[in-house]
Amino acid sequence: MAKITICNMIATKRRSASDLFLENGIGILKSHLEARGHRVEPLDLATSSFYKKISPALISRLVRSIYEIILWNKDGNKHQQSTKVLFGLALMLQKLNTAIRKNLMRKQLALIADRIVNSGDKIFGIKVWYGESFQWADKLAQMIQKRSSSILVIAGGYHPSLYESDFMQHSHFDLAVTGEGEHPLEQILNLIDDPSIHGHKEQLLQEIRQRILEGRLTNTMVRDARHDLKVLHTRVYPKILEKAIPRFDLAQNNKMRVHIVVDSLGCAWGKCHFCVHSKFFSQMVPRDPVKIVDEIQTMTEQGIGLFRFSGSDTFPGFGVLIAKEILRRRLDVRYTIGARATKNAADPAIFEQTVSHYEQMIRSGMLSVFMGGETGNDWVNEHVMNKGITSEDIRWTIRAMRKAEQQAGQKLYISLAFIYPTPTLGNVELEQVFQDNLDLVRETKPDSVMVTPPSPFKQSTWYKNRRKFGFVLNDTFVQDLMKYEYVLYKPVELWPDIGIRLDHMDFKTMMIECGRLRRAIEQEGIETDVSDEHFLMLVASGYSGKANGFKRQSMLDIISGDYRWSETIERQLNRFSKDLAKKNRMTSIRTGKPFQ
Ligand code: SF4
Repeated sequence: MAKITICNMIATKRRSASDLFLENGIGILKSHLEARGHRVEPLDLATSSFYKKISPALISRLVRSIYEIILWNKDGNKHQQSTKVLFGLALMLQKLNTAIRKNLMRKQLALIADRIVNSGDKIFGIKVWYGESFQWADKLAQMIQKRSSSILVIAGGYHPSLYESDFMQHSHFDLAVTGEGEHPLEQILNLIDDPSIHGHKEQLLQEIRQRILEGRLTNTMVRDARHDLKVLHTRVYPKILEKAIPRFDLAQNNKMRVHIVVDSLGCAWGKCHFCVHSKFFSQMVPRDPVKIVDEIQTMTEQGIGLFRFSGSDTFPGFGVLIAKEILRRRLDVRYTIGARATKNAADPAIFEQTVSHYEQMIRSGMLSVFMGGETGNDWVNEHVMNKGITSEDIRWTIRAMRKAEQQAGQKLYISLAFIYPTPTLGNVELEQVFQDNLDLVRETKPDSVMVTPPSPFKQSTWYKNRRKFGFVLNDTFVQDLMKYEYVLYKPVELWPDIGIRLDHMDFKTMMIECGRLRRAIEQEGIETDVSDEHFLMLVASGYSGKANGFKRQSMLDIISGDYRWSETIERQLNRFSKDLAKKNRMTSIRTGKPFQ
């Protein structure tokens, strides 16, 4: 049967402390395809050992030390002159660091390309992410194609799913799968095994084109044989959620023992103007809570006790069903979720129900929640965001969470997300939006607020109606956005220009405005840009400092490429995850009761 190696591509620098969570997408593919007789070799580059291979240790350490002194000077508001000199030196060393890292990355990818070509495999897959990672994925695809004309190089993941034909037009992949990759990939591997095709690449591509045109192969993109710019593709949306459970090789895996559980696909609301989620899944498809907890339990047997639910809106009415099943089986795990505010949460009956649901979720191990609030201004939330909730809903949902936390006697970390600055359609003063955001934060006191600048992603309503919303985009915006490398922690003022204007603001002004809100929130004593995942890491690693200290250390690691601090956090988190998992070993999946 056919064998495929699937590489999880990275940027040359880490982007977040949570980059090393277990790679569930490739894990699911592996389980699914191997159950059908194919062989899958994961090649995950997002490991601490690989980052080490491409990070020059000495320069990275030096850069980190210099930034530590700069921050120390800044805290004490002193040595202005020496800070400037140090900053210049740090930037110079960082440039050198980047050049070396890229060179080392190129060499590593060349080794991978040689290995794949020598393996005799007929197909090679890459999971593609945004920004620099996309560029390296494309580079690796070209390296393999240059060395061999018989290997089919295929892309998958979020990037081709979002950018569709643009992805094919601006990359060199032979093929790409969109959405859930298990089924198209299974068909393609079956074709490779087909004796009439003999695994011959051109014949294979021809057969794939034919099947796409006949509607027999969906969620697969390929260029037309006669016309390179024409991309053949039919997208269908999964309605039934049946996912294989991944099996991880933790022994030789320098990853963090946090498993991403697919609890649902899509979003029950699905109408936010800035969001592209509904373009991936036409409706919300929740998974059976029993199966979700089966998966959680299977993971504990693999030594994993920490989880992140992947659903965009694990709303309390659904989350409580999972929580009840976890409690019924007496599992001891910790997890984080993403959820939208509850509509009409101020209504006493809905409020009490929300409290009760969240209380059970906290008791079952929910440790933090990510909530997209978008803005505290109701006019903007309705007409610009189309979020379907009001600032009152956000206020009362957070109150419900706080009450649930008290009743459960356990801390729940709340990370609230805003988009700022935002389109206003000339109906509201931006300053008003700023103040409303701040009022909402003052009143609700989340544990962290994530403030991101606006971006009209391809396929979003903002993008389609960009003029109406006040966006002016360069002609190459989509293409540039595909390669755009942003790091959430990085001060927004340092983000590179991408050719976007909003109303009277150019890119730089937008970023300055975004940074202004971040700072105003911090002055209220509330942390910014610490996500639910970071809270999970913070607690699981036993980090004794405050969230801003955690954020600062992560940022220093990311900027410098010296990951020693992150590695310590990872070791501590892995110990915690493993110990937690061990506590559950004596429980049977079938009966949910402890073994006698
Ligand atoms: S932003 Fe969240 S709530 Fe809105 S459509 Fe997207 S996933 Fe759904």
